[in-house]
Amino acid sequence: MHTINDPLTTPDTRGIRLNIVFDNYPCNPGLQSLWGFSCLIEMAGQTVLFDTGSNGRVLLQNMEQMGLDPASVEMLFVSHPHWDHIGGLDSVIELAPHLEIVAPDSLSKLYLRDLRGTVRKLSVIDGMPTKIGKNLYSTGVMGEIGEQALVIDTEEGLIVITGCAHPGIDMIVARAQEMLGKDILLLMGGFHLSESDNDAMERLVVSLKSHGVRRLCPTHCTGDLARKMFADSFGALYLAGGVGMKVDFGPHVHSAAGI
Ligand SMILES: [Zn+2]
Ligand SMILES: [Zn+2]
Repeated sequence: MHTINDPLTTPDTRGIRLNIVFDNYPCNPGLQSLWGFSCLIEMAGQTVLFDTGSNGRVLLQNMEQMGLDPASVEMLFVSHPHWDHIGGLDSVIELAPHLEIVAPDSLSKLYLRDLRGTVRKLSVIDGMPTKIGKNLYSTGVMGEIGEQALVIDTEEGLIVITGCAHPGIDMIVARAQEMLGKDILLLMGGFHLSESDNDAMERLVVSLKSHGVRRLCPTHCTGDLARKMFADSFGALYLAGGVGMKVDFGPHVHSAAGI
């Protein structure tokens, strides 16, 4: 495994909050939903923005309504080069030029060169799993489109966040588990399953459960049939993701659609 930042590590879920700030699925009617995905992760000592959705103006409006300050973002994790994940990049950088970008090597070389000049630090991730911060990891860039997923290591298990899961959600889960040897406390993000039929979904549910996935929050490009089948098979451990959702970790996982 590569290491690009290596502070002391003590896995802990206390104080971790995930805020879905951009999504095409609505969760809180006070926020605007557009195609794309972005999630702000608040954890002890660091604030990380995962992707930026397709539109900076809407991203910033949603963050403001949720009481989140873009200037507090210290790390911007970019999953893959698609427009619905990098559309708000510039808007965030303008308000938080001190941040570090953790980008996949699938982004255009010219784009990477320009980004390097606008932020404090740019770390480019290749195919190798990489430790990127305190309890924070990248799966490494996977698949043809070149996508990385974010992994948060906690005492109770891993929190895995995916952009579109183009390499396959089961492949990403297997990689995360192999990297850190723990079950998945929560799998969140776009799972890219709108083409999957009933049989494929049934096999996937079995595969995810066998890989120790305990809770799911599928959203963005997951697809309605897939969301329904996950809801049926995971029951109370299924969270219907959408813009405005907050997931708190502590002694118990708690989600709410509050602003
Ligand atoms: Zn997407
Ligand atoms: Zn995509």
